[in-house]
Amino acid sequence: MMFDYSISKPVNDTALRVVSFGAGVQSTVMLLMACRREIGPMPDVAIFADTQWEPKQIYKHLEWVKAEVARLTNGQVPVLTVSAGDIRADHLAGLNTTKQHFTSMPLYTEGGKGMGRRQCTKEYKIDPITKEIRRLLGVEKGKRVPKNMIVEQWLGISSDELQRLKNSRIKWIVHRWPLIEALMSRADCRAWFERKYPGIELVKSACIGCPFKDYKMWQALKLILEEWNDACDFDEAIRLNGSKLSKMNSQQYVHRSGTPLRTAYLGDTSTSDFFQEECEGMCGL
Ligand code: SF4
Repeated sequence: MMFDYSISKPVNDTALRVVSFGAGVQSTVMLLMACRREIGPMPDVAIFADTQWEPKQIYKHLEWVKAEVARLTNGQVPVLTVSAGDIRADHLAGLNTTKQHFTSMPLYTEGGKGMGRRQCTKEYKIDPITKEIRRLLGVEKGKRVPKNMIVEQWLGISSDELQRLKNSRIKWIVHRWPLIEALMSRADCRAWFERKYPGIELVKSACIGCPFKDYKMWQALKLILEEWNDACDFDEAIRLNGSKLSKMNSQQYVHRSGTPLRTAYLGDTSTSDFFQEECEGMCGL
């Protein structure tokens, strides 16, 4: 069956046009294309949800994008950063964003036989962005968004990732996928960026210790000693802390083999579907 590309289009009379900005390949290209008026209409704002555990390179890239967007739009499109907290610290404390005793990262069990449920995307990415949108609309906490207010939310999903397209679960938010409309794949995005910004590197955005990393991403992380040690220390600490909480928590691992990251075999060439897609503002949802 042919894919119906017309499912993504601009919303008429939208109250706000928002880019969900993940600072990775696709959302960076989508945002910059809009600022260069190659796709549109021009968004009102871009929002980056910070888990406070991204690699240094992503924070550097974020600052570069903020400056470039300001330059291209004369400061008309702010790139805002929001955060629901520090995902690393919360996990080590065994807490979620609302400080309940519940951890939201999808960690592996001993031997990689199972994986926990992923709640971190919702808690650390989707919810803080939605909260910021409500703030920008001027809708107070607990109040309903008026019926006539519809928000158009842009997601950086490319034409090779059709399986990731999902409608918004929130009535007053309509998802839009401008890269799908432009028939651009991830490779097209990279090519566009290389043409416009030769010499500047685009990196994948993800928490340093994200369990969805595949062998290539762990190998790349190992080259940045400080961040590799950070991920290994976290991996060891969850078992140490977990043993104080429950037997189940004491057997969790960030590596898919369900063994300690520091000594895990990183030559396994199996890839993660998630990171073929990457954590683009909404962790691949
Ligand atoms: S990058 Fe991974 S750990 Fe971080 S919020 Fe997304 S899914 Fe969760």
